[in-house]
Amino acid sequence: MVKQKNCYRTDVYRKQHREYNRRRRARLGSSATSEYDKRRRMANPEQCHARSALRHAINAGDIEKPKQCSKCKRKEAVQGHHPDYSKPFDVVWLCPLCHTEEHIKLKSAVA
Ligand SMILES: [Zn+2]
Ligand SMILES: [Zn+2]
Repeated sequence: MVKQKNCYRTDVYRKQHREYNRRRRARLGSSATSEYDKRRRMANPEQCHARSALRHAINAGDIEKPKQCSKCKRKEAVQGHHPDYSKPFDVVWLCPLCHTEEHIKLKSAVA
């Protein structure tokens, strides 16, 4: 019974929310929606997935996180860098400095 009640509530909330969004869109015009969509796509769900998959693998002991940067060999808190987010376990371990550098390089390669 409790479950049903919750379900009903969520449903009502969703309906209200949808109505709110519809009105908002009508007021702001379609440009506001596309701008929002663009920003959402840029958040990159693949990147998010790759990160959480990696974290799970480390916690489960499937992947061992090294204690030093694979590039400069500095013993810092290494971070997993994904050259390809579609391969969550294909990671390069880099210290924060090298990781930032790598992303700057990637960005300039795209631009
Ligand atoms: Zn490094
Ligand atoms: Zn990275």
